[in-house]
Amino acid sequence: MYSNNEELRMAANMIRKAAREQVAPLAPSIDATGQLNPEVEGLLWDLGLMTVVFPQKYGGMAQHSGTFLCIGVEELARCCASSALMLIIQAVGSFPIIHGARPELLDRLLPRMVENRELAAYLVSEPGAGSDVASIRTTAVKDGDTYVITGTKCFATNGPVASVYSVLARTSNNGRDGLSFFLVERETPGLTIGKIEKKLGQKGSQTSEVHLEEVRVPAGNLLGEENKGFKLAMKDFDMSRPAVAAQALGIAEGAFEQMERYSRERETFGKQLCEHQMIQQILADSATLIEASRGLVYRAAAQYDEGKRNTKLASMAKVFASDAAMKITTDAIQVFGGYGYMQDYPVERMFRDAKLTQIFEGANQIQRLVIAREIRKENSTS
Ligand SMILES: Cc1cc2nc3c(=O)[nH]c(=O)nc-3n(C[C@H](O)[C@H](O)[C@H](O)COP(=O)(O)OP(=O)(O)OC[C@H]3O[C@@H](n4cnc5c(N)ncnc54)[C@H](O)[C@@H]3O)c2cc1C
Repeated sequence: MYSNNEELRMAANMIRKAAREQVAPLAPSIDATGQLNPEVEGLLWDLGLMTVVFPQKYGGMAQHSGTFLCIGVEELARCCASSALMLIIQAVGSFPIIHGARPELLDRLLPRMVENRELAAYLVSEPGAGSDVASIRTTAVKDGDTYVITGTKCFATNGPVASVYSVLARTSNNGRDGLSFFLVERETPGLTIGKIEKKLGQKGSQTSEVHLEEVRVPAGNLLGEENKGFKLAMKDFDMSRPAVAAQALGIAEGAFEQMERYSRERETFGKQLCEHQMIQQILADSATLIEASRGLVYRAAAQYDEGKRNTKLASMAKVFASDAAMKITTDAIQVFGGYGYMQDYPVERMFRDAKLTQIFEGANQIQRLVIAREIRKENSTS
């Protein structure tokens, strides 16, 4: 846990204050308009949150980057899940570049991204390949010193607003061992934005299809080794799943704060709601789930930072915290009664925002498969 690290605690307090004062008041309009507020986006860059996982010389953290990412995501998600998602997707989309690009490409790209405050997107999912990444059909065919990429990607967070895309494409017919990541820049001919999705929640991030029609990129845009893209995607998950869990944790904490306050303000049958035992049970169970989620999130992040294999803990954190967030936001609406169902109170938005955390970065059924597989591996080698 980061609570005994003074530097990280101070950073968390600073981000929490900024989020409460500058992001929370804008959260309802971000949800209503479906656009991230430019002031919030600027704030995230000013706080150094958009480059947390970059190499240190380009604004990244020398150590604790996984934990710091979770702290930023948690603190923002307490009041605005869409804003927290900006940090997650920037880290997820940049990961294959940071860990796969050749030094010359990094030295060209990262200073420009920082200077122009450019956004990254992650193009893995396709209409026929979500959980089953090995079914990807987008192809990248070598042609001299270029690759030609053709296919359709879906559900791309920040698809319409990103400048750089990490694209996973098929380079050989060898299932998941035939996939490779490529850097594709926004202005490359053949890249077009398709349908922009209308979503249940986290509406401040734009999610779209991205079409790649014979998109030609230099061979130097290959990220990592050819046919090793699946492994790079799995490493990305080790960082991103704790971050999605941190988003769920933040949403749950935000909903808890709201329902706890309301339970002291509202009276029924001549006493405060919080004096009714059944409401106390909801509060006690929610607080317990939050504590347990926090423990898992920061253990998974700390293992990542220490360079230890955290795949099992990352999936556990993601499953537990997202299921907890869904339960807590549902219960928060219950505590508010009819008012909780109305858009006048933030718990309605938090309930809608929580759902995504059970689906993306690997749906929770897939996380459970991963946990079971990791347990089996541990036991077969002991
Ligand atoms: C708002 C949003 C943003 C997203 N952002 C991105 C992004 O930026 N980049 C990107 O690449 N993708 C993104 N995604 C895609 C996301 O990662 C996928 O939706 C997710 O992986 C699930 O894939 P799917 O939707 O195709 O569901 P499917 O794979 O069709 O699964 C449907 C259901 O079946 C379950 N299931 C599937 N296989 C099994 C199994 N073997 N055993 C048991 N249950 C199973 C799943 O858990 C799920 O509940 C985003 C999705 C959303 C909704």
